[in-house]
Amino acid sequence: MEGELPPRRHEVIPGHQIAGEVVNGTPTLPVGSRVGVSWIGGTDGRCWYCRNNMENLCDAPTFTGYVVDGGYAEYVSAREDFVFPLPSSLDDLHAAPLLCAGIIGFRSLRVAGVERRERVGLFGFGASAHLALPVLQAWGCEVYVSTRGGKHRHLASEMGATWVGGETDKPPIALDRAITFAPSGDVVVAALGSLRKGGVVAINAIHLDRVPEFDYDSLLWGERQLRSVANMTRSDAADFLNLAAEIGLKPQVTGFPLDQANEALAAVKRDSINGAAVLVI
Ligand SMILES: [Zn+2]
Repeated sequence: MEGELPPRRHEVIPGHQIAGEVVNGTPTLPVGSRVGVSWIGGTDGRCWYCRNNMENLCDAPTFTGYVVDGGYAEYVSAREDFVFPLPSSLDDLHAAPLLCAGIIGFRSLRVAGVERRERVGLFGFGASAHLALPVLQAWGCEVYVSTRGGKHRHLASEMGATWVGGETDKPPIALDRAITFAPSGDVVVAALGSLRKGGVVAINAIHLDRVPEFDYDSLLWGERQLRSVANMTRSDAADFLNLAAEIGLKPQVTGFPLDQANEALAAVKRDSINGAAVLVI
């Protein structure tokens, strides 16, 4: 919508986190099964990445709501092998935000190499970060949140973050890992500046405004690592949905009727709602 990614088709139905019920089934997914569809609509299964357990980096992927039609609709068609059964403990409204924001947030924690009881920074606190926080808490981690907007800081405090500060504020203690969610290179540099030696910053953003020049000696030297997070694998999705059911993960959501899709998008852009906006049919 914002033109950050070049259009791949002249017209496309957006929406890449879809929860619903199967109406045209298969033997493994009979009619009535509750399922989710994520950003990864399919991979070619043949390229070097697919054959080496890195299907998130597939050379010829299909993206839901970008390359193929997505979920701003009453019905959608999806590849059976890229459809995920949903835990019964989650209704559609609360399951939808898990399907990209949740899974990719979870993958970011994996890419950052988070281990139990570590100190982890979340830079930005929108739809994805607010789902990563309870996962970190379930792992016994201390969570440090730097984010713009009083509303987001308030939500992070309410959810039990160890420390909450402004967008580029430095947490009071050196972090083992940091994940950046804002599409801002300045935030990436702030995250690097918060790490201990050997720490990792994982960038959970499909687009960054720019990467500013930064001081190698103080920010990257000392075996600090800077990594991007691209897409997801089906095992990330399955592992995350199982974990979500196990820890009772429930995203903050605001529902909008389908015919108010533009209002929902505007609310996200204005940052006027906490958590995720979900279109409901
Ligand atoms: Zn591939």
